[in-house]
Amino acid sequence: MNEKDCIFCKIVSGAIPSERVFEDQLCIAFNDLSPQAPTHVLVIPRDHIDSLDTAADADKGLIGHLLLAGAEIAREKGFAEDGYRVVVNTNRDGGQTVFHLHVHLLAGRPFVFPPG
Ligand code: AMP
Ligand code: ZN
Repeated sequence: MNEKDCIFCKIVSGAIPSERVFEDQLCIAFNDLSPQAPTHVLVIPRDHIDSLDTAADADKGLIGHLLLAGAEIAREKGFAEDGYRVVVNTNRDGGQTVFHLHVHLLAGRPFVFPPG
């Protein structure tokens, strides 16, 4: 994936609009365009990484940061006690459609496991 053609890089730059719910130096979070739950937020790094599969050892801290940002958003929105689902779809069989690493935060209804 060429970063200049990446839809999520364009969301980071503001070239494509999004409903941001959180941002800091390393990541932004915005509402998913096609929500699969009452709350469906995507947490993405500002810097382009294709997927969890291509993330490097040097990205360890960043990936932890994305997960903790998701947890913080869930707490802020009042979902922590009831619970929520965090998903990182990876490559074809994982159902990844956008190749800029992202964490799905889904909340507001119960989720089954395995997810299918
Ligand atoms: P995945 O299938 O795990 O790669 O997830 C990609 C997600 O990005 C899907 O849930 C899409 O609905 C979402 N998505 C795609 N384009 C946009 C956009 N412009 N704004 C917000 N969410 C988007
Ligand atoms: Zn990107």
